[in-house]
Amino acid sequence: MNVVIAGGGMVGLTLGRLLRARGLEPVIIERMPGGAYIPRGYMLGFQGYEPLKEIGVLDEVWPEGREIAPQGSSAVAVCVEVGKVIHAIAHDLPVMYEHSVKELRFDDSGRVTGVVVEGPEGETEIPSDLVVACDGKQSRVRDMAGLEAVFTELPEAELGWMSTAPAETSFSMAYMSDGGHIGHLSWPQGSGGWRSCSKVGAEAALAPGLDAIKDMWSRLLPESSLGVHGLESIEQVRYSEPELLTTPEWWKPGVVLIGDSAHFFGPETGISSGIGLGDAHALAEAIAQNRDDPDAACSSYVTWRAPVVRPYEAMDPGRQRILVAGQQQPGPGEAWPPAD
Ligand SMILES: Cc1cc2nc3c(=O)[nH]c(=O)nc-3n(C[C@H](O)[C@H](O)[C@H](O)COP(=O)(O)OP(=O)(O)OC[C@H]3O[C@@H](n4cnc5c(N)ncnc54)[C@H](O)[C@@H]3O)c2cc1C
Repeated sequence: MNVVIAGGGMVGLTLGRLLRARGLEPVIIERMPGGAYIPRGYMLGFQGYEPLKEIGVLDEVWPEGREIAPQGSSAVAVCVEVGKVIHAIAHDLPVMYEHSVKELRFDDSGRVTGVVVEGPEGETEIPSDLVVACDGKQSRVRDMAGLEAVFTELPEAELGWMSTAPAETSFSMAYMSDGGHIGHLSWPQGSGGWRSCSKVGAEAALAPGLDAIKDMWSRLLPESSLGVHGLESIEQVRYSEPELLTTPEWWKPGVVLIGDSAHFFGPETGISSGIGLGDAHALAEAIAQNRDDPDAACSSYVTWRAPVVRPYEAMDPGRQRILVAGQQQPGPGEAWPPAD
């Protein structure tokens, strides 16, 4: 089967490695230069362990991280600088870097039969039996294929920060009286935090200033204190308005969505990449078991994967806040920006 992987992020690269281990030679197309990534800490949840174990990456990155909730020789998650994971997956993997998927080719029945790729040498056409959209939340491949995307705005915004100071613990999280949440992650080279806050826009959310943010964070989440006090500038704090993503159909003839192109979960779940890596594992196996029939591979993939992924989507805490009866208001000192 000629497989084209559109997007060489964590999920596309992992799928590439898993398919090669099964004797296929997929073409991986990535618009960015090799090795490019935005440095940040990253929580690799247990859902992503198996695929990374199979390609030998888990053992390589584990010592580079901080364990979260260790259990014997394993842990519920490991927090590691994201570049270490991406470099380990990409090592020795042939990828068409600095090339973008620009168009899909269809036959008369509407089946996707290839991609048009744009690179430094101009445009080329690559025929395919199956295009796998690994091009992220704003997937162009998904849109060009005509697969529906349902974005849901969360009722609250998010305030986040990243510093170069490791925090006291690798992870902590707390719920506030109104169902909002605050948490932090820490890896050997730094730490980052997030909290829900009122949807007031970046200017108003950052207006109380860096010292007020540090005070609030270390009061509500003392385990993050060393990390948040490592902030040097308000530029290291960002305001965003996250959206969840679900896609009712994951495939149509000749194209399938996995990873962030198929789903994106709320900020407090920490599972988006673990689920995406699990998608890659399931799809690689479905393809290996249906080498001559891409539709059968996609159908088999959905049968295996929907019972795993759909419940996470339905139960995303961003969709339905869990509230203590009657408490709909933030408790004292919890609101952000502060009321006064
Ligand atoms: C700030 C932030 C923090 C996060 N923290 C965590 C965390 O702690 N734990 C966790 O599990 N998840 C986290 N996530 C989610 C996680 O990063 C993703 O789930 C993970 O990277 C897998 O995504 P992906 O490979 O499907 O898509 P992406 O990482 O978005 O990769 C898509 C790739 O496709 C490429 N591309 C796009 N369009 C084209 C095109 N037309 N042609 C060629 N290439 C293209 C892009 O350049 C990119 O490399 C976080 C996300 C963000 C934004």
